[in-house]
Formats: sequence, structure tokens, C-alpha cells
Amino acid sequence: MKRNIKCPNCDTWNEIESTGIEKCKNCGNTLIDEKKEREKKLEDFRQEQMDKWMFTIDEGDSKFMRFAKKVGNAGYYVFISILAFFAWLLAILPA
Ligand SMILES: [Zn+2]
Repeated sequence: MKRNIKCPNCDTWNEIESTGIEKCKNCGNTLIDEKKEREKKLEDFRQEQMDKWMFTIDEGDSKFMRFAKKVGNAGYYVFISILAFFAWLLAILPA
């Protein structure tokens, strides 16, 4: 799939075919694949939220507590995924 990426250095539009890092045809500046960047940010965001909010299962927890925490974490993961999806959706919508 072809995509157009604007060079951040000289504002030239470059048509790229492959994924990954491409160079500007005009100035040779490395072009950042925004789609990939966004996906990475999304993943970082999710990871950050998970780290912040996940229940940690302690050695001393009872079986029930362990189970409750696991369920809570699973639910939270789904919640964060949905949240991240909307954040991503907002990001791709034209301003
Ligand atoms: Zn350029």
C-alpha cells in the first residue's frame, strides 16, 4: 500500500511503498512513518497505564485475592484497550 509522508525537514511529500524508515527524495532526511509511530505510542500508552494500575499479586495473597486481582487485571486490560482505541481514533481523524 502506498502512502504519502511529508518530510519534516523540507515539507516535500514522499510516496512510500514499503513500511519502515524511508528517506526524503528531496533532502535525504529520514522520514518517520507516522502510522508506525502512532502504533508505538499506543502500545507505550497501554503499557504505561497497565504498569500504573495493574494489581500486583503478592505472595501472601489468598487464593481468592489472587483470583480477584487476575479478574481485575483482565478487565482493566480490556478497558485500557478500548480507551487506547478511542485515543487512536481521535488521533487519526482529520482535525
Ligand atoms: Zn526533505
